[in-house]
Amino acid sequence: MTSLPVLPLSPDAPGRRPALPPRHLADLDLAGRQALVAELGEPAFRAKQLSTHYFGRLVRDPAGMTDLPAASRDRLAESLMPRLLTPVRELACDGGATRKALWRLHDGSLVESVLMGYPDRVTVCISSQAGCGMACPFCATGQAGLTRNLSTAEIVDQAVYLAGAAASGAVTGSPPRLSHVVFMGMGEPLANYSRVVEAVRRLCAPAPEGLGLSQRHVTVSTVGLVPAMRRLAGEGLSVTLALSLHAPDDELRDELVPVNQRWKVAEVLDAAWDYASRTGRRVSVEYAMIRDVNDQPWRADLLGQLLAGRLAHVNLIPLNPTPGSRWDASPKPVEREFVRRLREAGVSTTVRDTRGREIDGACGQLAASETGSADGR
Ligand code: SAH
Repeated sequence: MTSLPVLPLSPDAPGRRPALPPRHLADLDLAGRQALVAELGEPAFRAKQLSTHYFGRLVRDPAGMTDLPAASRDRLAESLMPRLLTPVRELACDGGATRKALWRLHDGSLVESVLMGYPDRVTVCISSQAGCGMACPFCATGQAGLTRNLSTAEIVDQAVYLAGAAASGAVTGSPPRLSHVVFMGMGEPLANYSRVVEAVRRLCAPAPEGLGLSQRHVTVSTVGLVPAMRRLAGEGLSVTLALSLHAPDDELRDELVPVNQRWKVAEVLDAAWDYASRTGRRVSVEYAMIRDVNDQPWRADLLGQLLAGRLAHVNLIPLNPTPGSRWDASPKPVEREFVRRLREAGVSTTVRDTRGREIDGACGQLAASETGSADGR
């Protein structure tokens, strides 16, 4: 038993009893924080003070909040800023331009985030769930199954923590201010729908309510949960939707992205075009290039036919082979031919850079190596 308040169960996970963490100010909007502060017998303006520290100055340690009287500071910090993420490992590579963090959550679950610096921007890749239930066979996170949904604050805190690291100069050769967030870490964001949407609102609300990012600089990536994609199109958010397609035909996609057995390529693309037309945002189609599996010229042509004339961009991802996997990345000439055919069909296409390879930079591999669960797969 804990004396700390626990978030209510969400309709996103019927029948589940996830061990959600204690409530944190990032779970609430500013009005909610003010109400809570008042309940604690403190003046409501303290909510704004705390929020300014957390979202405006990226201060996470109550000891640094010297404008608050010590007694109130401790009480408020205990109720509104419990520690959600404990760093287990932090690794840097690419000459300091990429940093990866592995966190332990209050219940022992492990999740990862990656901070990536570019000359003109800083991006953080965050997790939305501990584990993932989507079971894509090429993805390290997919192998271990779902542990639980993250709370809104656990999602937001990854970005705030790493925004603080960036602000203190952790990313070599980049601006100090975090500008972009991608939901491409562990988990399926649209399977934790309400908390992820709430997290997006918090990341994009101006400080001190939130982190003040532009909605256009936030990308939500999905395996293609069609009803949730349609719901997201109606939220009035202008975030980028990334669709992990990985195959243009149902036969192969049924295997690579098992949720395709429920929602087929045609349905998922329909929902993507609906998202594009309702938001005006170009959909990013993710396609991991897997040698001799999905990289044939005919699949490039089929993909080109499906996407030509649509508000879409293809992002080819060289497969990051998971330990023990029978799959490998496509050879560069095969990749180049795939790109050439897509462009010939009039589809804008780029190949994603392979940041963080030597620190198991993507796809749940760091958490898997920590628990040993990737062995023998
Ligand atoms: N569940 C969401 C978001 C997390 S994964 C989704 O599937 O979209 C982010 C992206 O990384 C997805 O496109 C996913 O298919 C891809 N990915 C996962 N494992 C990979 C691997 N081993 N190599 C390359 N891309 C991978």
